[in-house]
Amino acid sequence: MRVAKDSVVSLEYKLHLGDGQVIDQSAPDQPLSYLHGHRQIVPGLEGALEGMGLGDSKQVVVAPGQGYGEHDPAGVRTVPRNMLPPGFSPQAGQTLMAQTDQGDIPLRIQEVRDDAVVVDLNHPLAGKTLHFDVTVKGVRAATQEELTHGHVHGPGGHDHG
Ligand code: ZN
Repeated sequence: MRVAKDSVVSLEYKLHLGDGQVIDQSAPDQPLSYLHGHRQIVPGLEGALEGMGLGDSKQVVVAPGQGYGEHDPAGVRTVPRNMLPPGFSPQAGQTLMAQTDQGDIPLRIQEVRDDAVVVDLNHPLAGKTLHFDVTVKGVRAATQEELTHGHVHGPGGHDHG
């Protein structure tokens, strides 16, 4: 069968940002399993996988708008040093978890100044063009239970224990 809405797809993938340097990939012999058509992966990749069959490989280039979104300048904030925990020495490139009403959100430290740090609340891949190398390692119809739960069961998927 071919990848379509409500397929369970097992995907071997590699992600780079155009320079060939892999920044993310599926674990060896353990493809990523997801429910197709349910926005579980970025829209640009999901669209490109539509209609692929078992064993098919493809290179997919995804623009930021179809990936993790454009970089939002409003997400870049300056935080005074005296608002940081005492004894904490921030480093550029470091990611902190900030506790908010909406749950934990990652803060990336972009720049460290004498009196403040500049943090970026955007997704680390916001504004990036994503280059995926993908191979379809499995495709099957989702079970009714998987559709009700909205996720994949079994190997590579959700384990209800
Ligand atoms: Zn479930």
